[in-house]
Amino acid sequence: MVKYKIVYDRNGCIGAGACVGMSPNDFEMANDGKADLKQSQDENGNFVKIIDEKDYKAALDAADACPVAIIKIVKLEEK
Ligand code: SF4
Repeated sequence: MVKYKIVYDRNGCIGAGACVGMSPNDFEMANDGKADLKQSQDENGNFVKIIDEKDYKAALDAADACPVAIIKIVKLEEK
């Protein structure tokens, strides 16, 4: 099954909240006014989360909606 990775550069977040509206399963607003990527791990300063293909569309919508384009969706190689 194809998997995708959400890569979120939290430092650049301006708190617009569009990602939460598009993909509430992935994003939520934190107390500091920035978005958190739920169930994510820190990877070289970015927050990352592996998702299934069924969750790809919502994540892509969140990435497209972010006004500062700090959410990337990377397709992972099939194993
Ligand atoms: S849409 Fe982008 S800038 Fe807005 S809260 Fe989400 S990650 Fe931050």
